[in-house]
Amino acid sequence: MANSAANGAGNGKAPSYNGSAYPITDHTFDVVIVGAGGAGLRATVGCSQAGLRTACISKVFPTRSHTVAAQGGIAASLGNMSPDDWRWHMYDTVKGSDWLGDQDSIEYLVRNAPAAVYELEHWGVPFSRTEDGKIYQRPFGGMTTEFGKGTAQRTCAAADRTGHAMLHTLYGQALRNNTEFFIEYFAIDLIMDQDGRCRGVVCIKMDDGTIHRFRSNLTILATGGYGRAYFSATSAHTCTGDGNAMALRAGLALEDMEFVQFHPTGIYGSGCLITEGARGEGGYVTNSEGERFMERYAPSAKDLASRDVVSRAMTIEIREGRGVGSKKDHIFLHLEHLDPKVLHERLPGISESARIFAGVDVNKEPIPILPTVHYNMGGIPTNYHGEVVTKKNGDPDAIIPGLMALGEAACVSVHGANRLGSNSLVDLVVFGRAAGLRAAELIKPGEKQADLPKDSADLALSRLDRFRWAKGGTPTAELRARMQGTMQSNCAVFRTGEVLEEGSKLIHDVWGGVQDIAITDRSLIWNSDLIETLEFDNLIIQAVVTMDSAVQRKESRGAHAREDFPNRDDKEWMKHTLAWADDENRKVTIDSRPVHTYTMTNEISYIEPKARVY
Ligand SMILES: Cc1cc2nc3c(=O)[nH]c(=O)nc-3n(C[C@H](O)[C@H](O)[C@H](O)COP(=O)(O)OP(=O)(O)OC[C@H]3O[C@@H](n4cnc5c(N)ncnc54)[C@H](O)[C@@H]3O)c2cc1C
Repeated sequence: MANSAANGAGNGKAPSYNGSAYPITDHTFDVVIVGAGGAGLRATVGCSQAGLRTACISKVFPTRSHTVAAQGGIAASLGNMSPDDWRWHMYDTVKGSDWLGDQDSIEYLVRNAPAAVYELEHWGVPFSRTEDGKIYQRPFGGMTTEFGKGTAQRTCAAADRTGHAMLHTLYGQALRNNTEFFIEYFAIDLIMDQDGRCRGVVCIKMDDGTIHRFRSNLTILATGGYGRAYFSATSAHTCTGDGNAMALRAGLALEDMEFVQFHPTGIYGSGCLITEGARGEGGYVTNSEGERFMERYAPSAKDLASRDVVSRAMTIEIREGRGVGSKKDHIFLHLEHLDPKVLHERLPGISESARIFAGVDVNKEPIPILPTVHYNMGGIPTNYHGEVVTKKNGDPDAIIPGLMALGEAACVSVHGANRLGSNSLVDLVVFGRAAGLRAAELIKPGEKQADLPKDSADLALSRLDRFRWAKGGTPTAELRARMQGTMQSNCAVFRTGEVLEEGSKLIHDVWGGVQDIAITDRSLIWNSDLIETLEFDNLIIQAVVTMDSAVQRKESRGAHAREDFPNRDDKEWMKHTLAWADDENRKVTIDSRPVHTYTMTNEISYIEPKARVY
């Protein structure tokens, strides 16, 4: 790194790498929320309603945040279709997590889920309806009744565009509550002080290149997942996990990064998602022999087993030569037997996606599908108030003051080793709401804030400036392709020590390659070359901790399936992985913190581990 000092480093002259200072516009807010997806917007509404002066920063227009793509629905035990109970939802979530989820947080999630869904309904989310006007709920993978005995219809849906409906409603509510939005601002790095408190964030406004420093009593990262570390992902190109990388550069650990969920039904070729709701409505998968093979792998839940189970079964079928197509490298999803009315009313979006991305008419022929990266269970460790925690001086739950994380960026951890479908949207709104409530307890509107440290913008601006003037020999796109290829082939559905060790070497090489990065556009006005490079730099540090976390976990649990260690090992491995990354010296450090083996209240006891069969 050529310089460590940029603006504001003591002499007031604000040196920078190219010899002149970047002017900075300063803002002060009670709360600054980075991210305007479901999690960020729900927290924004709560903080604004608490009278806190709240800023919401987003690199894309809020309603373009990735939550907009969520299809199938949001889980809550409303019991509209048949009897339901939050305890059954809790059992399913614990089992889905393969006992890596923290059960106090899971209890908080499932107990608050119905209220969070009714709140969305009252705010205007246009849910699909039953004949008698209640919110329609569909079956989803791993969601059962009576502790695994029956199939639950728990997933509340607005056709197959639930995320779209939620995001637009939440944005409307945020505007109604006078939130100040900073749209198409890209957050570069956090501001941390010498006491380890987060004091705000530094951003670049992408359309004019101006630098903005936000000082706040509370900063909330709701920046989404990092699916784009892989070649084939259902997530948008914007899903680069920027908040996770900011946390790593601020010296904080990320938790359980080895757990990456592959969704069984990505469209072959494009990776575009076909919601699990398609199987919830009666769809099923077959191999080249026309066999409904899920009956062999999950005799009870069959096609509605949890995602890791279905993805692994599909991968085995393909490996054993029973894939479909000329290369025998994918599987079929059948919907053509369903009533066209059901397809039209309940699954219009995926019918369109199948036509556009696979050239298939779902009324007549099956959709070609393949497991595709879909969700990151790992992220910034938090408690169920949204406060970021770390392991410090022997305390595994030490709170980082002034910093919260929510949504897919966070690891609460309710999803543990494997998230159940429709449990993410509910995570966004339950913990988004919790963060607002906690913020109201922690800070007073307009509370005086200390001056920022003199070097508050150094980390962000030196990074920005270094990449802006980077004159190496390797274009960002080349490094990104190497990273995505390595993650796809060396950290996939099935893993072995040998393949992961090789992956670790390869991915560290790509990380080292950042030194030699080449950028061609030096301007600051809508410089997509520069922003994509900052995003790549965010992705590669997460790819490295993902791979190294996977290398060290010598067991199979949830989405982490090791062929050399095929069993879950609760004695050695029922613990959360913590990974720190030293960006300067390109070094990863791994430690762990215990799983919370207790619940939040006495109304349910700890659910003891047992074999996870569907
Ligand atoms: C295709 C698809 C379908 C899905 N369907 C479902 C479903 O039916 N049910 C379910 O429960 N889950 C579903 N999921 C998962 C779920 O949609 C996501 O986990 C969830 O929407 C993530 O929300 P979020 O608020 O954490 O992040 P996002 O919605 O990804 O929002 C991230 C926000 O952070 C902002 N941001 C990021 N980096 C920066 C930066 N550097 N500077 C400024 N702003 C930044 C972005 O602009 C954006 O506003 C689906 C996922 C996919 C990929």
